[in-house]
Amino acid sequence: MPRCSICSKPAIAYIRYQRKYLCRDHYIEFIEDKVRRALRKYKMVGKGYRILVALSGGKDSSTLLGALAALRSEFGYELVAVHIDLGIYEYSVKSKMAAEELAKKLEVPLIEVPLSEVLGTTIPELANKGRRPPCSVCGMVKRYITNAAAVEVEADAVALGHNADDLAVYNLKSFLSQDLEAISKLGPKTESVEEAAIGRIRPLYLVYEKESFLYAYLKGLPFLHEECPFVDHRQMEVKLKEVVNSLEEERPGMKIQMMSKLALRIKDYPKPQGKIGRCKYCGLITGGDVCSFCRLTKKALGEPMGPKVREYIRSKALKLGLIPRRL
Ligand SMILES: [Zn+2]
Ligand SMILES: [Zn+2]
Repeated sequence: MPRCSICSKPAIAYIRYQRKYLCRDHYIEFIEDKVRRALRKYKMVGKGYRILVALSGGKDSSTLLGALAALRSEFGYELVAVHIDLGIYEYSVKSKMAAEELAKKLEVPLIEVPLSEVLGTTIPELANKGRRPPCSVCGMVKRYITNAAAVEVEADAVALGHNADDLAVYNLKSFLSQDLEAISKLGPKTESVEEAAIGRIRPLYLVYEKESFLYAYLKGLPFLHEECPFVDHRQMEVKLKEVVNSLEEERPGMKIQMMSKLALRIKDYPKPQGKIGRCKYCGLITGGDVCSFCRLTKKALGEPMGPKVREYIRSKALKLGLIPRRL
């Protein structure tokens, strides 16, 4: 039986790109050390920071919250989680349970935003009424609500659970269509725009999808194993993932190298052009007069719902004692 390269206890993982075997404890340390290094190297956090974690209930967000919680006292930041109940049938019911269980286990205050309660509708219905594909509506709604929550709780950064596999695929996809502005958003960190958009950090920037899964599993972090019923396996992303995986197979560590190189050159990519304004309804960031969330909800529900979402989150944050924020 292979033994841990550090302590010679029985190994549970082989890290191919570093040619080492690790036991359970050293594996957990290995992942937390990767996150620690990413936080430091890319200057993602500071002492006294309030980090808002987007907690979906899937493996990556569980690993993200688990690792950030483990490093909480070392860096001196504070964690708050937000979970959006999308109303995607059983999938959302189970995601919500996993998110609640995890937040409780790690003692992180959780703001829950159920769309059925706040908007009186769900993602499938909203996509139908707005005549748009569910995945694009869902992505936009999640981005909007996460940012709104970060603004309301006065977070210093939003932490996202994107792993190296996801990011390598987005990077390649954007490169193939020469969408260089999209690539400019794939770095480890983006800056805040006044109080209208809170900057994002990706602490799992150099963590593989498989590594993230094993970490959550070994640490006993609750997470949902199922994928969303709307996932389309014919999507370009799925094909590109196969391509990148076969390259990784031949050159272990390829994805991590790709993303570290991108991080070094991220400033050379053109930023999205055009003016940055405030939505006339909700006051959050937009390229025009009305943000995409208020536009879609106005079209589908007859009312721009941004202000209601902000008010809902504010009342939840008040109840949790998160605001007014003590600095
Ligand atoms: Zn060991
Ligand atoms: Zn708006």
